[in-house]
Amino acid sequence: MTARDGAARGPEHLVRSMRERPGLTLRELDERRVTELRTVGDALGERLTSMGIASVLDLLEHYPRRYHDRRHVQEIVDLVVGEEATVYGEVKKVSVRHTRQRRTLVELEVFDGTSYLRLTFFNQPWRGKQLSEGTEAAFFGRVEQYRGRRQMINPVVDVLGREGDETGGLVPVYPASGKADVHTWQLRRLVKNALERTRERGFADPLGDEVRAAHQLADRTTAYWGIHRPDSMDDAQVARRRLTFDEFLRMQVGLVARKRALEREQGGLAHRVEGPLVEAFAEALPFPLTEDQHRVIAQIAHDLAGPAPMHRLLQGEVGSGKTVVALHALLMAVQGGFQGAFMAPTEVLAEQHELTMRQLLDGLAVAEPGSLLGERPVGVALLTNRTNAAERRRIDEGLRAGTIDVLVGTHALIYEGVQFARLGLVVVDEQHRFGVEQRDLLRGKGLRRASGTAAPGTPAPSELAERVLEPDVLVMTATPIPRTAAMLIYGDLDRSELRALPAGRAPITTELVGPTPLERVPVYDALRAEVVAGRQAYVVCPLVDGSEKTQATAATEEHARLAAEELAGLRLGLLHGQMPSTDKEAVMRAFREHELDVLVATTVIEVGIDVQNATVMVVEDADRFGLLQLHQLRGRIGRGAHASRCFLLADPSTPDGVARLEAMRDSTDGFELAERDLDIRGAGEVFGERQSGFSDLKLGRLPRDEDIVLEAREVAEAILDEDRELERHDQLRQEVEDLLGDAVEFLFKS
Ligand code: ADP
Ligand code: MG
Repeated sequence: MTARDGAARGPEHLVRSMRERPGLTLRELDERRVTELRTVGDALGERLTSMGIASVLDLLEHYPRRYHDRRHVQEIVDLVVGEEATVYGEVKKVSVRHTRQRRTLVELEVFDGTSYLRLTFFNQPWRGKQLSEGTEAAFFGRVEQYRGRRQMINPVVDVLGREGDETGGLVPVYPASGKADVHTWQLRRLVKNALERTRERGFADPLGDEVRAAHQLADRTTAYWGIHRPDSMDDAQVARRRLTFDEFLRMQVGLVARKRALEREQGGLAHRVEGPLVEAFAEALPFPLTEDQHRVIAQIAHDLAGPAPMHRLLQGEVGSGKTVVALHALLMAVQGGFQGAFMAPTEVLAEQHELTMRQLLDGLAVAEPGSLLGERPVGVALLTNRTNAAERRRIDEGLRAGTIDVLVGTHALIYEGVQFARLGLVVVDEQHRFGVEQRDLLRGKGLRRASGTAAPGTPAPSELAERVLEPDVLVMTATPIPRTAAMLIYGDLDRSELRALPAGRAPITTELVGPTPLERVPVYDALRAEVVAGRQAYVVCPLVDGSEKTQATAATEEHARLAAEELAGLRLGLLHGQMPSTDKEAVMRAFREHELDVLVATTVIEVGIDVQNATVMVVEDADRFGLLQLHQLRGRIGRGAHASRCFLLADPSTPDGVARLEAMRDSTDGFELAERDLDIRGAGEVFGERQSGFSDLKLGRLPRDEDIVLEAREVAEAILDEDRELERHDQLRQEVEDLLGDAVEFLFKS
């Protein structure tokens, strides 16, 4: 592609004036209210604001949804029955009727100068108002024959207005808002008006000619004109590529800068990663580690031993054995005299982690020089919202005195003024539930000053006092994230992956089943057969709209129903989020010890619950769950040597719902499912929760734009290589600041 620039497009005087006056920056455009445009009064201004368009920049970033190609318009007289076509015409007659089933029927007669066409809209009552007599619009649909006349049923409608200014072939169609009463033709006029106002100065470009040429990017002036007023689909494509690149570049500059700022921090702890505690632990494990686990543990050890604080993401498929890796890391910290925090997203999971740890650490001791034996057992404690006051005091004391080596818990760890004497490592499990801010809060609990007694192998208190000691951070997630998406979300972290599952896992088959009582029969038969064979099962209750409480009620009722009907005679347990902590623990323990056959539960079992003997899962109303949530749920089975079966009960009512369930049936590979999920939902929705930058993706979309993400990453790195604080990239810096807000402060400060 040849580099297209603004100069190639506009007249000569434009080139000159752009040289004389600097082009418009996005910030300048964002400082102009839309009401400054000639045609926008206060009333329209308010309506625009209500749909998120307050500034001229908002308007220019309100991109067309598609383009209407006038050159492909057909004349009504030529239409062929059975084929799809676009026609453009004026509404001559409108009638609104109601059918006997009380449905609305809107019928139109459209004329285009050659002939009349009848349009019929079912159940779209607003069409009567939208398409009043005299309205000119484009209609796209299949031509059908009805009672000897040609018609279209529920065609796609683009009201194009009647400015008659569309000389080019492509008419942009904008997302309009019925609620705000703003139409696509209005937006088209406003955008055009705004673009005209930029003509004199053009858009300033944060990217130099060289970068643009190297990555085949159009300049900004070309891009903003091209996306709104393309002469060809090619123009629109070129424009979209540049603007998408800009979206990703801003995010990548933020993330790469953050990553480097973290790497530059000097206050890390150098852990003593080799020693008797870790060795004894590895010896005592009931299984050999997988090669992946060895590799990741080595990566972590390397980070921990070095002076810079670790910021590592551990991604691993459900059941890949992340917990053992985390325990290795925690013990590396502990054997050097530091404390570890292990944060889980739910109480049940925190409890389970604590239990696993107690079991695996049983008999292991940590050095305690001053004491009689010279050592003491590794101290593990559990802190959740339900921890009572006495226990809480004991924990506080233990943390201060250093006798608690690892504190396992939920969010309570961050929010409740917990004070560690010597926090050395933070492990955050199942990161998708935690945001960046929470991670930072935990990091902030690091050792700012020396306190407590020093254990051997750690710097003496006086040395500690001189440094700011940041704990190392290991984030674990089972959410399989495609590589490029991970680059967007976790672009500030180093990454490790556990790909292989531990050997000896039997496969899971997944079946889609209809929800009627008759269809359920074989499902419960299969469940019973497994129980008779000595296995266990989960029944996951439907997601209920509303509070945790309604959810709990639903689960309780389902439990009672199953116990009385389909699963009568089996030992059933109930688990939901509203139960008192001790009850939950008791039920989990009973299930783990096989005193229960079936666990009827809400999604509290979604994360991390680990019972290898469980081989059946029945998910009620499976279409109401997200794809990755289903994958997480299903990960509770197939953990042992027995083959497992997952039954998804559903009657999906949307194409997306069907797509999700079929994806589940066809694959157990988390990465594949993640790709499918991105396809079905789009990146904005999937990752929107994690950081603000994501909701600002207007054009970018994964996996479609993967190559652009990679290029943006490359450019971001190159720019920060030669200009760490963006001193010579003022405009880019501004844009990143405007995207990320205050968070950006620390990034560019040396
Ligand atoms: P996840 O990655 O989903 O958190 P877990 O850490 O819960 O997975 O591990 C799942 C199960 O696999 C646990 O029961 C664990 O003890 C077991 N496990 C972990 N590593 C191995 C291994 N190398 N060989 C056999 N079983 C293992
Ligand atoms: Mg886990």
